[in-house]
Amino acid sequence: MGRVYNFSAGPAVLPEEVLREAADEMLDYKGTGMSVMEMSHRSKAYDEIIKTAEQDLRDLMNIPDNYKVLFLQGGASQQFAMIPMNLMKNKVADYIVTGQWAKKAYQEAQMYGKANAIASSADATFSYIPDCSDLPISEDADYVYICENNTIYGTKFWTLPNTKGKTLVADQSSCFLSEPVDVTKYGIIYGGVQKNVGPAGVVVVIIREDLITEDTLPGTPTMLKYKIHADNESLYNTPPAYGIYICGKVFKWLKKQGGLEAMKKHNEEKAKILYDFLDESKMFKGTVRKEDRSLMNVPFVTGDDELDAKFVKEAKAAGLENLKGHRSVGGMRASIYNAMPKAGVEALVAFMKKFEAENTK
Ligand SMILES: *Cc1c(COP(=O)(O)O)cnc(C)c1O
Repeated sequence: MGRVYNFSAGPAVLPEEVLREAADEMLDYKGTGMSVMEMSHRSKAYDEIIKTAEQDLRDLMNIPDNYKVLFLQGGASQQFAMIPMNLMKNKVADYIVTGQWAKKAYQEAQMYGKANAIASSADATFSYIPDCSDLPISEDADYVYICENNTIYGTKFWTLPNTKGKTLVADQSSCFLSEPVDVTKYGIIYGGVQKNVGPAGVVVVIIREDLITEDTLPGTPTMLKYKIHADNESLYNTPPAYGIYICGKVFKWLKKQGGLEAMKKHNEEKAKILYDFLDESKMFKGTVRKEDRSLMNVPFVTGDDELDAKFVKEAKAAGLENLKGHRSVGGMRASIYNAMPKAGVEALVAFMKKFEAENTK
C-alpha cells in the first residue's frame, strides 16, 4: 500500500523527503556507523545535529539573540505547569480560554496561583476568537496566556490580544512555523512538535532571557526549571535526541521551501481551496466564524451524524485518512499542516464534491 493523504490533527503528516532521508541514514548516520538513535547526546555528531537545528530555527523565525531556544520533553501539556511554576512571581496570570487546550492550561495554572479567565468563547463551542482589544488585564498579572491556534475548533488569533504591557505567552503547537511571527511580541512561544514539525515527544520553547530566573515557585522540580535547560543548552539530561534530529530535518526542508513567508502563501492557497468549497457547498458547512478561521485545522459538518460517519468511512477507503472530527465538535476535521501537499487538499475537495452529488436527492 502506498502513502495516503493523512489529515490527522497530530501526530501528523511529515514531509516525505524528510522521512526518506531519515530512512537512508537509519543504519549509518554520515559515516558514524550508527543510527542517531544509538549515539551519545554528548558526541560530536549529535552536538552538530542539535546546534544546527537551533540555528536553522533561529534563521526561519528570525529569533532575536535575547531569546533562548529550548528543546524539551513532556509535550505541550507539560508547559501548562512549567509556565506558572517559572513565571508566576506575583502568583497571578490571565488566561484567554478559546478551547480545550487553553482551558487545560488555565486549570493547571490554578494549582499554582490565581489564574483568571479574562475572556472565553465557551458560549459558542469555541467557534470564534473573542475581542481581545480591551480586556480586564490584572494589574499584577505575571503574564497573559493564549492558545494561538485552536487545533480542535479550528480558530486562530489573527490579531494578538492587547496585553497592556504584560508578557504574552502563546501555545503555538498547531500553527508553529506555518507563517512568519514577530517573536519580539511574545515572552514565550512554545509548541509540541507533533502537529507541524516532527515526531511526538519534543516541545520547542522560545523564551525571552529575562523570564529565565532562579526565582521559581517553591518545590519546582529541577527538570521543570527553564534555567537548568537554558544553562545546559537543552542537554542537562538526555534530550529526545532522535525527535530533535527529525525536527532539524524539517527546519532544513522549510528553508528549502523558501522559509515561512513561502509557507504562509502555500498554506493560504491550500486553505482557500477548502474554505471556498465549504462556502459554496449545500451539504458541507464550516463551523468557525469566517474571520477567525485557522489555516491549519478545518472543522466541517453536514449536520447529519450518519452522513458524517458515512463520509469519514468512504473518504478513508479513497485514501483520505483521519478526517473524523474531535469528539467534542463532531463532524469532520481536515488538518492541513505544512507538509500536506496542495494535491491532498484538491483530492479532498474533489471527493467532497463527488460525495455531495451522490448523496443529494
Ligand atoms: C496537541 C496540542 C496540545 C497537547 O500536546 P501534547 O504534546 O500531547 O501535550 C497542546 N496544545 C495544542 C494547541 C495542541 O494542539
